[in-house]
Amino acid sequence: MKAVRLYEGAEAPEVKVEDVPEPVAGSGEIRVAVQAAGVCGTDLHASHGRLPVPVLPVIMGHEGAGIVETVGDGVTDFAVGDRVLLLPSETCGKCSACERGHLGLCPGAQIFGMARDGTFAEKVVAPTVCALPLPDAIPFEHGAILADAVATAYHAVATRAEIKGGERVAVIGCGGVGYHAIALARLLGAKQIVAVDASEGALRKAEEAGADVLVDARADDARKAIRRAAGGDGPDIVIEYAGKKVTVELAMAAVARGGRVIVGGVGMESPQLGPLVSFVGKEIGVMGSMGYTRDELIRVVELAENGSLDLSGSITGRYPLEQASQALDDLANRVGDPVRLALFPGEVP
Ligand SMILES: [Zn+2]
Ligand SMILES: [Zn+2]
Repeated sequence: MKAVRLYEGAEAPEVKVEDVPEPVAGSGEIRVAVQAAGVCGTDLHASHGRLPVPVLPVIMGHEGAGIVETVGDGVTDFAVGDRVLLLPSETCGKCSACERGHLGLCPGAQIFGMARDGTFAEKVVAPTVCALPLPDAIPFEHGAILADAVATAYHAVATRAEIKGGERVAVIGCGGVGYHAIALARLLGAKQIVAVDASEGALRKAEEAGADVLVDARADDARKAIRRAAGGDGPDIVIEYAGKKVTVELAMAAVARGGRVIVGGVGMESPQLGPLVSFVGKEIGVMGSMGYTRDELIRVVELAENGSLDLSGSITGRYPLEQASQALDDLANRVGDPVRLALFPGEVP
């Protein structure tokens, strides 16, 4: 079968499209004929050598949806022909996070496309715990991104920020996850949404997702611009998806008194809390947001199925599997203002 594999290179890792043997579903596993795979910033970081990849060579990709093709021994919850979406990692099932269903916090999680073969292939094998039924009403390309860019944003907006109707929200960093955070904030009753990004293209997409006011993150006084745009004394909730010291500090400076800052951007930088007289005096809540729970994923599947959550603008580029390197390059260079790009082993829709 065709697959996109990541190899150790002399300087940076190398991406190769090759013919590899088909994987076989073991006990408790299913083999899925991939119909669509999402291309994420994580794939890009891995292919540029910015993220350590434990197993090389490895078939890339952790976002995918497809059709069950074979089932291994003992599999009763899925049958051949079922439409499924795949979760990005295999969790241990034993730790306290797994017991609470919080997939994002499992320390033993093995991400597809890095720790085990992933979705940039005609076929992928996954344990049944890594699959959910995909309703007929949801196209495969949306199924491929629900378990990453969409559910992650839902966890931040609904559960961590606990958004209430009538609140003012700012989203800093409007890429794939930020875009969906805006769409979900709109759906969950935000009164005013301010989108903040340094890319004009990302801001245009943010507007399509439902942002009311756009703020260029490079503005002289972005803090003032966000507060003015939100009205009152600033946004009640600021969600950060840029993963930088400067943007987390901007979020804390811009949020209203008594507001919440949710940091979903991951990186190695160390933001400063600032003077306590301001941090404590404004009673700012700052918290991280990582992944999502199984119930939250089921909820976003429902929202997509019943049409409340419109994902029609989410896939901004479609490529045959063979052009995975091109897709990664286009994502890196933000060609076509990408929200999410998708790869297709079969015909590109
Ligand atoms: Zn991802
Ligand atoms: Zn676990």
